[in-house]
Parts: sequence; structure tokens; C-alpha cells
Amino acid sequence: MLFNFTDTQKEIINLSRDFAEKILKPLSSEYDEKEEFPAKLASSYKESGFYSIIYPEEYGGINAGLTGLCLCIEELSRVDGSLALLPATSALGSIPLILYANDEQRKRLFPHLTSGNRVAAFALTEPDAGSDATAITTSAKKDGDFYTINGMKHFCSSGNISDIYVIFAKTAPEKGARGISCFFVDKDTLGFRIGKKEKKLGIRSNPTTELFFEDMRVHKENMLGPEGFGLFILQETFDYSRPGVAAQSIGIAEGALSLTIKYLKERKQFGQSVISFQSVSHSIADMSARLEASKALLYSTVIKMDETYIKAFENAVKNKTAVRDEIKKISRTRWTKYSAMIKLYASDTAFDITQQCVTLCGGMGYMRSFGLEKFMRDAKVTQIYEGSNNIQKNEIAAQIIKEN
Ligand SMILES: Cc1cc2nc3c(=O)[nH]c(=O)nc-3n(C[C@H](O)[C@H](O)[C@H](O)COP(=O)(O)OP(=O)(O)OC[C@H]3O[C@@H](n4cnc5c(N)ncnc54)[C@H](O)[C@@H]3O)c2cc1C
Repeated sequence: MLFNFTDTQKEIINLSRDFAEKILKPLSSEYDEKEEFPAKLASSYKESGFYSIIYPEEYGGINAGLTGLCLCIEELSRVDGSLALLPATSALGSIPLILYANDEQRKRLFPHLTSGNRVAAFALTEPDAGSDATAITTSAKKDGDFYTINGMKHFCSSGNISDIYVIFAKTAPEKGARGISCFFVDKDTLGFRIGKKEKKLGIRSNPTTELFFEDMRVHKENMLGPEGFGLFILQETFDYSRPGVAAQSIGIAEGALSLTIKYLKERKQFGQSVISFQSVSHSIADMSARLEASKALLYSTVIKMDETYIKAFENAVKNKTAVRDEIKKISRTRWTKYSAMIKLYASDTAFDITQQCVTLCGGMGYMRSFGLEKFMRDAKVTQIYEGSNNIQKNEIAAQIIKEN
């Protein structure tokens, strides 16, 4: 490995690897087949301490930043990229809260999110608003100290196993992109309902569901940031969350490659092990180099991001300000380009590696009992969610063109 990880980071790697081997592996194929989340895994995750990684000690966290989070997601995903998702989607739901919550909101939410008593989810996508987030039709109408929210979301990851949902709704539809606001809502709020669960190609053990909001009254204290700031919150959230998708992609690809190498060393044809054929070993070399390049880009970026993120979080607690305001005081750097690059490169690499691994293992690679094809199915979604890879390319190109 190219990086000198700190003792805490090494501990996260070891704990996550151990958790994946002992807890996730025995559940993996059964719950993929059942297309269900194993209920007992929720309490194992709660005990694991993984939810506390991105929070400072003030809220019961371990202050290990985005690097700690990515190391954990990578290790869990090496074994099962679907069962690994609950802490990852909770981080996705937590990031807008971390960036924009005020001191009072932090005190209300973070001790529960850190301990895993409550799990967060993120709900933006609607049937007519995927890549184009400004097309959402969920509305939030002001009514005294409350907003009345009506509408629905679809494709919400961990949709029926979360507690606090960060949602986006239009408070001023006439203002277009500037008329979107962001709220957090508890699953027990009157008017909140979970809808159908999707049947999917991959990540089958993580429930992807619809959410319905029917005259759901939400107090104005549940609004994140100022009214009309939803699109900024969304964009900044993705800057910090997309490295997590890259970590998931890398873990999945590592899991597939390791199983493939093991099998090809043992498999004999024409009197020799299949891995000794040069075309096969060259494929292994190519895949390994691309995987290492993904890791280098991911960890060099998140280590740099953490220099600001961790300091800003500490300052925000001390000054009772929003983390996002403290980030801006320290650095004006936006991470959009690098986050998009990591997500694009790692997810394309992961899908390509997993499908090549299936090919290299021949008929055995195709059989569900062997456990390889699941990596390929699970890798596919990393090219789609948190913005499809075309959207990542649009964002990278826009930035590069501006810089030159
Ligand atoms: C399993 C799963 C879990 C998900 N979890 C969540 C979640 O937890 N929360 C949440 O809010 N959402 C979630 N999503 C939604 C996900 O983020 C969207 O599916 C994704 O952003 C793409 O939107 P779409 O599916 O509507 O595709 P569309 O926007 O309809 O895109 C269709 C195609 O058009 C291309 N395209 C669209 N616009 C452009 C453009 N401007 N330039 C070039 N190409 C373009 C896309 O790349 C894509 O190939 C999840 C999706 C899946 C599949």
C-alpha cells in the first residue's frame, strides 16, 4: 500500500476487515438470494462503532474523517458491497447534516447518529427528477412555524431501515433551482410513509424504496441551512459523499479480483494452472494497476479533504457555527472535480474488473454458488448512483474548461 496510514486508520482497517469476515460473510449469499436486509445486522452495526467515524469526540465520535469512513467502506465492500451499504448510506444522509446543521440541530441529532441509535438516509430522486435534481416536484408550503410537505421520492437506499431522512422539496417553485430547500424528517412524522421496495440487479440485500409525504407537517427547525439553499446543500454533499462510492467500488473490485486469482491458481487446464497463461496473467496485471490507481486517487484526495474537514468540524463545535461556514474560512477549495473523478474512475474500473473476473473464471464465474457474479451485479450501481457517470463527466469537464 502506498499510504502511511495512522494507527487509528490501521485500527479501522483491521476492525472493518474482521467485521466483514465474521459478520457479513456468513450472511452474504443468503440475504442476496432473499433480497432482504438481515434484521440482526442492524444491531451488529450499532455495536461496531462505524457510525461514529466521521464525528468528533464532542458527539461521541472518533474524529477519523472521510479517510476513516472510506477505509471502513472499502473493507466491508471487499466481502459484500450490499451489506456494507447501511453505514455508507447513513454517512450520505449525515453529510448534509454535518455541513449545514446549526449548533442546536447538531446537539439534537448527532449523539443519536454517532451511537447508531438512529440511522440517516438521503432522499432526493423522484420519478421525473434523477440527473436533473431541479425537476423535483415535492413541495413544502410554509404555514406559521411549520412547512407542509407533499410529494414522493423513489430509489431511496436503506429506505425502510433508516430513521432520519434528509429530503429536498420546493419551497418556491417559481424560483427554479433557487427555490429548493432541504429538511430532515423523522420516520415517525405524521404523513411520512414508506412505499414499495424495488427488485434489483445488484445490492439486493439493501432495500431501495419509495417514500411518500402526505400533508407531512415539519417544524421550521428541521430545515437545514437557509430557505432556498437546497441545491447548494445537495452539490456540497456530493463533494463529500462520492469518495464513499469510490471506496465501495474499490472494495468490490478487490473482493472479485482476490477470489479470481485464488481460483485461477488452482484451476488446471492443458496440464497447467490457468493463471500461468500469459494472456490471463497480463489481465491480472492490468486490473491490479487500475485498482491501485483508483486507491491512490481516492486516498490522496480524502486525506487532503480531511485537513479541512476535521479542523472545520472542531471549530464549528467551539464557535457554535455551521461546519460549512468554518470550511469556507479555512479554504475556498471545492472538491467537486476530484470527487467526481474518483467516483467516475473507481466505479468504471470496478465494473470492468468484476466483469473481466467473471470471464476469466469461465463457467464457474457464472455460477451463483461460486460467489463471483454477485460482485459484478453489485458493482454496476456504483456507475449510476450519486449522479450517473455522465454527470460526473459533465462536472469534471465544466471545471477543467473553467481552469484553462
Ligand atoms: C440502487 C439505487 C439506489 C439509489 N439510492 C438513492 C438514494 O439513496 N437517494 C437518492 O436520492 N437517489 C438514489 N438513487 C438514484 C440515483 O442517484 C439516480 O438513479 C441517478 O442519479 C440517475 O438518475 P435516473 O435514474 O433518473 O436516470 P436519468 O437521469 O433518467 O438518466 C438516464 C440516462 O441519461 C443520462 N443523462 C442524463 N442527463 C444527462 C446529461 N445532462 N448529460 C449526459 N447524460 C445524461 C444518464 O447518464 C443516464 O445514463 C439510487 C439509484 C439506484 C439505482
